Amino acid sequence: MAKAKPWLEPHPHGLYVRPADLWIDPSRPVERAAVTHGHADHARSGHHAVFATPETLAIMALRYGVDAAASRNAAFPYGDGFERGGVRFSFHPAGHVLGSAQIAMEYRGERIVVTGDYKRRPDPTCAPFEVVPCDIFITEATFGLPVFRHPPTEGEIAKLLAAVRAKPDRSVLVGAYALGKAQRVIAELRAAGWTAPVYIHGALEKMCQLYAVHGVDLGDLRLVGESDKAEMAGQIVLAPPSALNDRWSRRLPDPVTAMASGWMRVRQRARQRMVELPLVISDHADWDELTATIAEVNPQESWITHGSEEGLLRWCEMTQRKARALHLVGRDVEDEGGEEEA
Ligand SMILES: [Zn+2]
Ligand SMILES: [Zn+2]
Repeated sequence: MAKAKPWLEPHPHGLYVRPADLWIDPSRPVERAAVTHGHADHARSGHHAVFATPETLAIMALRYGVDAAASRNAAFPYGDGFERGGVRFSFHPAGHVLGSAQIAMEYRGERIVVTGDYKRRPDPTCAPFEVVPCDIFITEATFGLPVFRHPPTEGEIAKLLAAVRAKPDRSVLVGAYALGKAQRVIAELRAAGWTAPVYIHGALEKMCQLYAVHGVDLGDLRLVGESDKAEMAGQIVLAPPSALNDRWSRRLPDPVTAMASGWMRVRQRARQRMVELPLVISDHADWDELTATIAEVNPQESWITHGSEEGLLRWCEMTQRKARALHLVGRDVEDEGGEEEA
């Protein structure tokens, strides 16, 4: 007997849900897209209709001018969803950035969950990852190698604060991606008791405002462009990574260059960017989080995508778990300077 075609098909440019005629995180414009979160490798412009969480839709409106109020687009809070072509879709927290969701789909008694990007450790700027039991678990694998073990976030924030206090005549300039990482670093600083103004590059302003509108209090933020050079001595400044070694940084008092990224675990990456203070702060699950999550969800089958697929695939094989690697294109690049968001 011929095996039935799977109802969810991996294609190079996204996951296609055939009975619903809908794509998940497609990398090219489509008629109907369900989008896990606002990063550029998942959310693209040009779709006719977008289904996402309210926060993701707001982020897409800000970044791509998607009309969040148009009736063809639809927003679903966590736990909520819709039905199309006999497939029941629902959105569940992924713990990655504001509004980030796993998308669960149920069709003829089979449940598939697409994580999008996710992490398991606490993040004051978004809802924590929720384990959704399923038959097929489609997981990201950005840090799918045993070498990637992120240290505790508090320790990295303590390093940053120690550097600021040690150099009262200089500012510490932290490179952080505009969506998610920048707001998380600020929120973690606030949680650690840093109440001073945080100075930001103009490119971060609108996204920080969007977070504040959605209830994430980031405290006193000031634009570098509207501040005196002297006032920023002994202070923390945040900018997108592309601005770190740019002329722009000359307006800061002798800045110490830092960067917050999971890739800072790789010394060579820090050296390439001339980062003096690498901070291993990631919005992706590390190796232990990836493997623990697969064990906890315990699906019949795992599909691995978006990163070091082979490493995680080997772990699944070694632990007798059925798995396959999907080779989707264009899923590892954030928009800012062609850099991975991590
Ligand atoms: Zn992402
Ligand atoms: Zn991604």
